[in-house]
Amino acid sequence: MLNAIRSHLGLKLFVSYLVVIVVGAAVLATAAELAIPRAFDRHMAPMGQMMGDMMSGTSGTDLFVSYRAAFTESLLIAAIAAFAVAVVVSIFVSRRVVAPVRSMMAATSRIAEGHYRERLAIPGNLQADEMDELAQLAVSFNQMAATLDQTETLRRELIGDVAHELRTPLSTIKGSMEGLIDGVVQPSPEAYHQIYLEVDRLQRLVSDLQELSRVEAGAYHLELKTIGLGDLIDGAIARLQDQYDEKGVTLEKELPSPIPQVVVDEDRMGQVLLNLVGNALQFTPAGGQVRIVGEGLADRAQIRVEDTGIGIPREYLPRVFTRFYRVEKSRARAGGGSGIGLTIAKHWVEAHGGSLLADSPGANSGSTFTVDLPLSP
Ligand code: ADP
Repeated sequence: MLNAIRSHLGLKLFVSYLVVIVVGAAVLATAAELAIPRAFDRHMAPMGQMMGDMMSGTSGTDLFVSYRAAFTESLLIAAIAAFAVAVVVSIFVSRRVVAPVRSMMAATSRIAEGHYRERLAIPGNLQADEMDELAQLAVSFNQMAATLDQTETLRRELIGDVAHELRTPLSTIKGSMEGLIDGVVQPSPEAYHQIYLEVDRLQRLVSDLQELSRVEAGAYHLELKTIGLGDLIDGAIARLQDQYDEKGVTLEKELPSPIPQVVVDEDRMGQVLLNLVGNALQFTPAGGQVRIVGEGLADRAQIRVEDTGIGIPREYLPRVFTRFYRVEKSRARAGGGSGIGLTIAKHWVEAHGGSLLADSPGANSGSTFTVDLPLSP
């Protein structure tokens, strides 16, 4: 019995009503016990006297006993009626409380089984401030289920994307190796170099993925320090100037005076700039121009990387920060890009409280990537 009460919310509600009724009746009975004799003396005794005078043999004591019996009987009837009401009310309330909790339990176990589309019905078209706690719990539950659903979809997509990204270099390596083994491909430095490039691509993809998972999980610590925009920009230029010269793309910088100072993790922000300036080189044909412009605004600093390259069609602009996304798949793949660079760059800029935006008037009209950083994060 005790176990049944412990494990059923409906029974618990019923018992709680019962306790209230029993306590109420006990208090009433005790109060009546104390109050009845005096109330009887005050209201009924004179009447009993009169009746006793009229009807011989009926004493005041008899009247008191009858009065008390009548009172006890009404108390008993009231307690039975209250008991019946308690049963009905507890059934009604427990239906209203227990039914949603039960459906929540059922939905939880469906989700645990991997059915992430499971949602709870929210009664009526209630506004947030009209909902009781149970309806609000159902809304929160649905939000949690939607987040889980989204995470699961992303996880599935990620596995698919990674498998897809691994397949191409692996089949190229396998094809080259088979050619070498069968003697179809002559062992030459070029053949080995081709294999080396694919292995290098794989290695970069794996380390990009590792870094992406670390930033997405927030498993990093920013080593913040104050640094001038000029030093940040010079770092990227120093690393890439030779490659620009080699390709025949001019690289310029433009800085305001005084040069704004930012509080950033130099390595991470340097990596962001390296990615943007590297992309600008990759997507700008020989003879083109890339400008890195630093600017100080009231409460933030901006670095714009502007190129005169192949540009990005407007409809693809919002997608360039999506992992594995490349506007021109074959071109980027040939260039060795995994399509994760901008995803990681955006994460790093946002980790500093800033934003990274892409803009382009359209294909073949150049692109501009803007890093916006607060002066103090
Ligand atoms: P990847 O490693 O392929 O360069 P990114 O995440 O850095 O990956 O860039 C994603 C895609 O965005 C690129 O494949 C390219 O299509 C597009 N993109 C990035 N930068 C530029 C740019 N400066 N000009 C034109 N397209 C660009």
